[in-house]
Amino acid sequence: MDIRIAPDAFVKLAQIADANAYERAGDNPAAESHAALTLEQQNVPLNIKGVLSCITEVATPHGQKPILRAMITTACELNCYYCPFRAGRAAMRRVTFKPEELAHAFDSLVRAKLVDGIFLSSGIIGGGIKAQDKILDCVEIIRHKYAYEGYVHLKIMPGAEYDQLVRAMQLADRISINLEGANETRLDQLAPKKNFEEQLLTRLCWAHEIREKAHHEAPGSIRAGAVTQFVVGAVGDTDLELLSMTDHLYTQTGLRRAYYSRFNPVIETPFENVAAVPAIRERRLYEASFLLRDYAWDVEELPFEGEGNLRLDVDPKRAWADEHLHEAPVEVMQATRRDLMRIPGIGPRSADAILRARRYGRLSEVSDLRKIGVTGAGRAAPFILLDGKRPPRQLSFFDAIE
Ligand code: SF4
Repeated sequence: MDIRIAPDAFVKLAQIADANAYERAGDNPAAESHAALTLEQQNVPLNIKGVLSCITEVATPHGQKPILRAMITTACELNCYYCPFRAGRAAMRRVTFKPEELAHAFDSLVRAKLVDGIFLSSGIIGGGIKAQDKILDCVEIIRHKYAYEGYVHLKIMPGAEYDQLVRAMQLADRISINLEGANETRLDQLAPKKNFEEQLLTRLCWAHEIREKAHHEAPGSIRAGAVTQFVVGAVGDTDLELLSMTDHLYTQTGLRRAYYSRFNPVIETPFENVAAVPAIRERRLYEASFLLRDYAWDVEELPFEGEGNLRLDVDPKRAWADEHLHEAPVEVMQATRRDLMRIPGIGPRSADAILRARRYGRLSEVSDLRKIGVTGAGRAAPFILLDGKRPPRQLSFFDAIE
């Protein structure tokens, strides 16, 4: 395998390996995994083994791809309490690339067929605008000098300028503007030098404005959609706070996706003794955010308990149905699409299949639902009526493992 990148760049990439693994790079966090095993099967030379740990398999608009997670610099002048790169943290080895150097390293890895995509971020030295310029310089080289057309996901720095955002959205497939906290108070507790409204939320609004404007004035000129990420559970933030902000962003800024990064303590940070957040909380937040984005739920309808958190033992749709549908099951032959999608086991595709099928005949057995492709029919059974009757409970093997 011929890989022409300077040995220095290998060493530096190996040093930032795993350093930015806490950020989501693709469309589906559940599908992100280290690509090392697959790539090792391709006889990767020993001297670039370290680089493999910067490569992650992620879901992109072009399918599942191995992408390089890279940072222009791991040095930072800010002091976010949860972050391994925070200023003054001795345990973090600092690595800095010149934009051309990183672009060249990426091009070499693309040509060696080790990666097909990049997630590019950076620590901040000299302010967010300067850091953003370096990210943009690097991706300009990747797109123009190396003519790379594949997946590029760029991080937008706090305080980046409007024109920088426009350029980033022209060059990248995704941009991340991470709010980190659910609101201004939570961000102050997490990252006291970042300004929620001025440096972050406005940029998400700008991203929406830029897309809308381009849609009318120059269709096709903007390729990127915006995503954001929250740090979950380090400062007592509730699911209600996180999902209220998520809902606001989906409805007001056209956000593509909210990512939830459960808090994990990092040594030598002010939060090193704060307890880690269980993975199941992250999962429940994703399930609830899909109900908001894809199932047209309002945040007030989500089944929060006590101080505003979701149950961990059961998914939010099921928790809601237990409370509302046991006594008032949904008649499948008459329900609207929206009401069908409230039933556990029935999503948009199953609801559409039901709407189509009932135009031509009756659906009176659970097996009728299965025949038209409702794979979650068994899970739906306790919450529905079929031709006015409650179906008998009979979980199939496939329902049981859904
Ligand atoms: S600005 Fe980014 S890199 Fe710097 S400390 Fe905060 S989260 Fe970490």
